[in-house]
Amino acid sequence: MIIVVKPGASKDQVDEILNKLSGCDLKAHISEGAERLIIGVIGDKSRLAPGSLDVLTAVEKIVPIMESYKLASRAFRPEGSSFDINGVEIGGKMITMMAGPCAVESEEQVEEVAQTIVKLGAKFLRGGAYKPRTSPYAFQGLEMEGLKILRRVADRHGLLVISEITSECDIDQATEYLDMIQIGARNAQNFRLLSAVGKSGKPVMLKRGIAETIDEWLGSAEYIMSEGNYKIALCERGIRTFETATRSTLDISAIPVLKSKTHLPVIVDPSHAAGKAAYVRPLSLAAIAAGADGLIIEVHPNPTCALSDAAQQLKPDVFISLCNEIKAMCEVIGRTYPE
Ligand code: PEP
Ligand code: MN
Repeated sequence: MIIVVKPGASKDQVDEILNKLSGCDLKAHISEGAERLIIGVIGDKSRLAPGSLDVLTAVEKIVPIMESYKLASRAFRPEGSSFDINGVEIGGKMITMMAGPCAVESEEQVEEVAQTIVKLGAKFLRGGAYKPRTSPYAFQGLEMEGLKILRRVADRHGLLVISEITSECDIDQATEYLDMIQIGARNAQNFRLLSAVGKSGKPVMLKRGIAETIDEWLGSAEYIMSEGNYKIALCERGIRTFETATRSTLDISAIPVLKSKTHLPVIVDPSHAAGKAAYVRPLSLAAIAAGADGLIIEVHPNPTCALSDAAQQLKPDVFISLCNEIKAMCEVIGRTYPE
């Protein structure tokens, strides 16, 4: 359930609610919106005597949340959430552009991509260092060395780093080099990993599992949030359907559905959904038109030689013209494109 606090309630009155909850072994998660303070309550509510919260001065109303996710629910932050990572806001009026190669292959490769994307409003440099490959014989990534390359290149250009972590064991060391942790589709329901990144407190971009329903996905987000980490963006990256013309089916409907069910910002990855560079442009524009808060796009200086996902990575010049079109789309729908 959530407790909506009366506007203008004093700190003592709010503390009265919090003390009542902790006295009943219930966990309180506070959401301080522009207009309302909302307290999400997690735990066994039967410990509360009936009516014992309603009588407290600061309680405006108590709303039960029927879904199995609570903190991720829109009710917890009806106005939608946004958060800041080193001066870059995710979930605001301005969309967020993230771009970079599928995998970090060398410093020169990442440098070349960074030089292109930084001029086009991208704020995040992406690149896989721990690659979740279908075959154990495929390129597995440069691991920690890859993260160090990303950090060095990003720092030269004033970019932020986002990269995937696949194991709890790497979190401590990896977070020294990252600004945002990516949880990949294959680990979207690795609940121990989700709890661990929740505990790390680092911002997280949580990709949708390959065959995860929207409610299951929000359950995954709840694992992170229940550890007190609210800096989460969801990333729609396509789901597995009967269709084989694309690598995955980009679920455009997920964008408005998420906007009604959750307050979390939504990023779209058209590259992994499409699997083919030629489809990245229309999917990117559709995602922004449908209300996505940002895009993460794979860009490689020479895609044909890429060590992973060669077919879907954009050449820098293609990315440049795509960004101009995304900018035009932003104007049409009243969003801002980053400078
Ligand atoms: C990636 O973004 O590098 C990636 C592997 O994507 P996904 O987890 O969506 O397949
Ligand atoms: Mn990839």
